[in-house]
Amino acid sequence: MADVLRVCALYPDLMNIYADRGNLQLLRKRCEWRGLGFELSGVGLDDPLDPDAHDLFYVGGGQDRDQALCAEDMATNKRDALHKAADDGKVIFAVCGGYQLLGHSYDLDGTKLPGVGLVDLETVREEGPRLIGNVAIEVTLDDTPQVLAGFENHGGRTRLGADTRPLGRVLKGHGNDGRSGFEGARGGARGTVVGTYLHGPLLPKNAWFADWLTATALHRTVSELGVLDDRLEDAAHAAARRAAGI
Ligand code: GLN
Repeated sequence: MADVLRVCALYPDLMNIYADRGNLQLLRKRCEWRGLGFELSGVGLDDPLDPDAHDLFYVGGGQDRDQALCAEDMATNKRDALHKAADDGKVIFAVCGGYQLLGHSYDLDGTKLPGVGLVDLETVREEGPRLIGNVAIEVTLDDTPQVLAGFENHGGRTRLGADTRPLGRVLKGHGNDGRSGFEGARGGARGTVVGTYLHGPLLPKNAWFADWLTATALHRTVSELGVLDDRLEDAAHAAARRAAGI
């Protein structure tokens, strides 16, 4: 097994609301506990992005104004690298504001922020309240349906293209647009581009999902990663499910 997980966080200062960087800490700890190496680098505005130097690319959530700063840079300076990474089967994991930027555009009160076009979807900030609350979705990544539980807070409504796979089906909460019953999206040549509105931080409450991201990034199966003592993580997951009402 490649014994180092190399993670690249895009815009770690600007795209990090609700302590989304907790997702990175969880990935790091689980690698350490398994005796795997973990390398984290960050790329900011104007920085070059090397698609071959990382196994997993991460984009957190952002306020509209911070997203506007990143959108242009991501769609121009990082676009080709991200497409190459996706074509090579690298994991690209984006939450909330980062998820919105995986699509074609984010229409913000008439101003269209560009996306990187990795997944066929678009987001519009429509009239109406922000979609806020605890959320649970059913996700089938391999064969077994599992529950991803967390929290969402977004003004944008995301519509998936006709052939775009959602990440999951909403059990409780709003999901992509409060109507479709879909949450998140999967794309890329090998389904390794994953976006979700659940954030803040999501992975400590869903360690099983963190392990799928890690295993996929390392081209391994989850069982090859080995079992950890997940009593605390299981309790956090159960609490997040209870908060969502399932
Ligand atoms: N700014 C985006 C929205 O409100 C995303 C917010 C977020 O990342 N929480 O839709």
